[in-house]
Amino acid sequence: MDCQWCNSDQAAETTGTVYWELPDGSRAIEITETPAISCPACGMTCQSDELVSEIEDQLFLIDTKTLPKTLTFQDLMAQPRLLKRNYFKF
Ligand SMILES: [Zn+2]
Repeated sequence: MDCQWCNSDQAAETTGTVYWELPDGSRAIEITETPAISCPACGMTCQSDELVSEIEDQLFLIDTKTLPKTLTFQDLMAQPRLLKRNYFKF
């Protein structure tokens, strides 16, 4: 995998903790075990563009008021999306 920053081919997938500001700007949450790309050549660790938009989409679609301060990436993606309730009647 190529590093986006230094173009080294030593970049590898890893997981880490990221702090994410909620779309309404009210607070930031801590997301652990988030997939990331880590590069030993330049020391950079970052999320791919796809992953960033995946997290942002999810935060727009779920009820962020009930989110705990800290959760795992998996738990975040497993949160029920509010918009779905408009399409399915229980
Ligand atoms: Zn690098």
